Amino acid sequence: MPYFIDVILPIPLDKEFTYGINKNEAAYLQPGMRVAVQFGKSKVYTALVAKVHQNPPLVYEAKEIEHILDETPIITSEQLKLWSWIAQYYMCTKGEVMRAALPSAFLLESETIILKNDQTVIDESILKDDEFLIYEALQHQSLLRIQEVMNIVSKKNVLPVIKRLIDKEVIVVQEEIYEQYKPKIVRYIKLHQDFYKEEALRSLLDTMTRAPKQREVLMQLFTLQATTVKPIKVEELTKQSNSSSAVIRTLIDKGILLEYFVQTDRINFEGEKNAIKELNKYQNKAFDEINDSFSEKEVCLLHGVTSSGKTEIYVQLIEKTIQNGRQVLYLLPEIALTTQLISRLQEYFGEKLTVYHSKYSVNERVEAWNNVKNRKAKAQIVIGARSAIFLPFVDLGLIIVDEEHESTFKQYDPAPRYHARDTAIVLAGLFSAKVLLGSATPSIETYYNAKQGKYGLVELMRRFGDVLMPEINLVDIKTKYKKKQMTGHFSDTLLESIQDSLKEGEQIILFQNRRGYSPVVECNTCGHSPQCPNCDVSLTYHSFRNQLRCHYCGHHIAMLQQCMACHSTEISTKGFGTEQIENELQKLLPDHIVGRMDQDTTRGKHGYEKIISRFENGEIDVLVGTQMLSKGLDFRNVSLVGIMNADNLLNFPDFRAHERSFQLMQQVSGRAGRTKKQGKVLIQTYNPFHQILQQVSVNDYGGMYKDQIEERQQYKYPPFYRIIKITAKHKDYNKVNDAMNWLAKSLINVFKDNVLGPEFPPISRIRNQYHKNVLIKIPQGQSLIKTKEVIHKINNSFKSIKEFSGVRIIINVDNY
Ligand code: ADP
Ligand code: ZN
Ligand code: ZN
Repeated sequence: MPYFIDVILPIPLDKEFTYGINKNEAAYLQPGMRVAVQFGKSKVYTALVAKVHQNPPLVYEAKEIEHILDETPIITSEQLKLWSWIAQYYMCTKGEVMRAALPSAFLLESETIILKNDQTVIDESILKDDEFLIYEALQHQSLLRIQEVMNIVSKKNVLPVIKRLIDKEVIVVQEEIYEQYKPKIVRYIKLHQDFYKEEALRSLLDTMTRAPKQREVLMQLFTLQATTVKPIKVEELTKQSNSSSAVIRTLIDKGILLEYFVQTDRINFEGEKNAIKELNKYQNKAFDEINDSFSEKEVCLLHGVTSSGKTEIYVQLIEKTIQNGRQVLYLLPEIALTTQLISRLQEYFGEKLTVYHSKYSVNERVEAWNNVKNRKAKAQIVIGARSAIFLPFVDLGLIIVDEEHESTFKQYDPAPRYHARDTAIVLAGLFSAKVLLGSATPSIETYYNAKQGKYGLVELMRRFGDVLMPEINLVDIKTKYKKKQMTGHFSDTLLESIQDSLKEGEQIILFQNRRGYSPVVECNTCGHSPQCPNCDVSLTYHSFRNQLRCHYCGHHIAMLQQCMACHSTEISTKGFGTEQIENELQKLLPDHIVGRMDQDTTRGKHGYEKIISRFENGEIDVLVGTQMLSKGLDFRNVSLVGIMNADNLLNFPDFRAHERSFQLMQQVSGRAGRTKKQGKVLIQTYNPFHQILQQVSVNDYGGMYKDQIEERQQYKYPPFYRIIKITAKHKDYNKVNDAMNWLAKSLINVFKDNVLGPEFPPISRIRNQYHKNVLIKIPQGQSLIKTKEVIHKINNSFKSIKEFSGVRIIINVDNY
C-alpha cells in the first residue's frame, strides 16, 4: 500500500492537500514537520505535515513531495489544534493561520535560480551585451540568483533578458528553496595553546619588542582574561587595545592567537535584577482571591482601577508559575507603547523574559521561537502582542492578558481575523493553564462573563499608596464660547489649571483624538473641500510639512494656494488635531516645552521610546497626544490631564462607541496623579450632561456597565448576540452593490431579521475599493457551527457566479 501525507499550504485554499511519500519517508515524517512540495505549475512551497496515512486522494493523482525540511516537528500538536480552532471559529483557512503563525523564515518560498544550459554549445556572437555578461558570469559560478543578475546587468527588470537567454537555450531556470534564518556567529579570540607555558610566553614577548602594537594587543588580552571568565570577543579586544583588525589578523596568521566561532542568540538581556515588591494588604487580598478563583475556574478577571498595582500582582503570579517550572505568556495590546512595562518586568525577571516583537528581525523571532519550544530558561516568560499566541509553548501554566479591553487584540486584516484574548483562552485550555484578564475598564463582554460566573471576578478599587483617584471635572465649552472665555481651543479653566501645574513644576498631558493640524480644509467662497482621490474622505491639513494628507491611504499633496473648484484664495481650516493644539499652546507658553505624541511623531523603531523618555526626564512639560497616551503609561509627575474635546469620541457611529469613550477617557485620566498628590482631569465638551461623561466624571464603571448591557440586550448586540460581519470589496461601485445585494438576499432568506443591512459604510471607498457590508446576528442558542456552515455554503454559491468574479468577500467573526 502506498503512503501519503496531508499537508497545510500557506495559501488561502480551504483544503489540505495530499502528496505521495515512500515507506521510509512515512516512517520518518511526523505531523508538524515541513516538507517542500510543488503546487501549481512550478512553484515550490513549504508545506506542513498534518497527517500521515494510506488513503489515496479520490479526485486527483497525488504528486510526490520534493524533499523533507525538518528532522523533528517544528510545530507542536497543541499548535495544530489551536490552528484548527482558529480556522474553524474565525472562518478562514488553516493556510492563512499558518502564514500568520510561523516566522517568515520558516515559510521558505522558492527562489528562482539560473543555471548554465549544459546541453547546448553556444555561439557567443549571437549574444547581446547584457546577455553576454550573464553568460560569462555563469562560466565562473555554477548558479546565479535573480538579485545577482540584477547586479550584473545593473538594472531591476531582468526578466526580459532572462527570457531571451532561455529562448536562445543558453540558460535554464530552476526553483530552489532557501533558508532565511542565519544563526548569529560571534568571533572569539584566545592565545594559542603553544604559548600557555610560562617560558614559551616569555620568549614570545621578548621577540616582540620590535612590534609594540602586537605586544600591546597581547597585554590587553591578558588583562581581559584576568578580569573576566567569559570568552573574549575579537571586537572587544580590538576596542580595548585600541588596535586595528589588521594587527589582530597578523597575530592570528603568525599562529600566536587563535580565533574561534560560536553560534549565539541575538536576544540577550543582561541587566540588574530588582527584588519583587511585596504586596500591600489590598493587593494581597486580590492575589489570594485570584488563586482561589483559579482552583475552580480557568479564567479570572482582575478589575482594578488605574494605578492600583495590578502589574505587581501579575508579577507575583508569574513568579509562582515559573517556580513550578511552567511557562508564562504575558499578552499586551501593543509592544511599542509599553517599553516602560517591559523594562519593569526585565528588572524583575532578567534573562528569563523573552520579548516577542513584530519589529524584531526574522532571525530574532526564530530564536525566540526555538527557545520557547525547547523550554529554555530564557524563554520561561514571553511578553508579546497578539501574535505571541502562536509560539510553540510546551508547558504553559499562565496567560496574562493585560488591558484586556483593548481593541488592538483583534486582528482586522488580513485573515485570520482572530481576537487574541479569546484565542488565548482556547490556548490555555490546551494546557490546562490559567488565564488572568486585567483591566481598569473591562470590556462589556468580559465583565458580563465574570458577572455570570463564567469567569472569576476580583476587584481592586483602591490606588496603590492610597493615592486618591483623580478629580474629574467637565468644562462646558458651549457656554465658554458664548462668554468669550476661550483662547483658541482652550477654555480659561483649562489654561489656568495648566499654569498652576507648571508653577508647581508638574507635568501635563493633553488628549486630542485626531492627529494632524486640522481635519477639514474648506473654501470660504464655494465651500469645496479637497478630497482624497482614492478614498471617500477629506484630506487633513498638516502644517508642519504644509501638506494635505489622507489618513486612510497616505495620499498627500502640498497645501493648496487656491480652491481647486473656484480658484478663490480664501481657504480656511476647520476642526483641530494634535498638531494645532501643540502650536496654539506653544504660543501661549513660550517659556515651556510642549511635545507631541501621535503617529506622525513616533515613526521609526524607537520613536515612542524617545518621546516617552524625554517626558519622563522632564524635558517636555506638556505632552499633547492621541490615544497612544491611554496605554498604561506610568509617569510620576503628571498632575493634570486635559481632554480637549470629548464629543467627537461619543458621536462615533458604532455600538461600542460609548463603551470605548468611557474606557479611553478613564484610561487617559488614569495618567494623572499616580504618586502622591491627587491628580486633576478636565474634560472639555459641548455636552456636559451626556450620560457617559457623567459616569466618567465619578468613575462609575458599574453604572456605565449597567446602561450598556441593557442597550446591548435591547438592540441585540454582544454579549447577547454574536456578530459576523461580511464585507464585499471591489473597485467598481455597481459590482460591489449587486454582489452584496445578492449575498444579503441569500442570507436574509435563512437568517431573516437577524441580518442587518446591506449598507455602504460612512466611508465607502478606501484605496479605490468600494465596500459594502452586511451584519449577521446570532442569538444565544443558535448553533454557531451550523450558522457558519450556512454562510460557507452561500459564499460558495456566490463564488460560482461569473458576474461577481473579482469581488472580494471578507468574513469577520466577532467584528470589533
Ligand atoms: P496598574 O498596573 O494597576 O496601573 P501599577 O502596577 O503600575 O498599577 O502600580 C502603580 C504604581 O504603584 C507603580 O509605580 C508601582 O511601582 C507602584 N506599586 C504598586 N504596587 C506596589 C507595591 N506592592 N510596592 C511598591 N510599589 C508598588
Ligand atoms: Zn472654492
Ligand atoms: Zn486616501
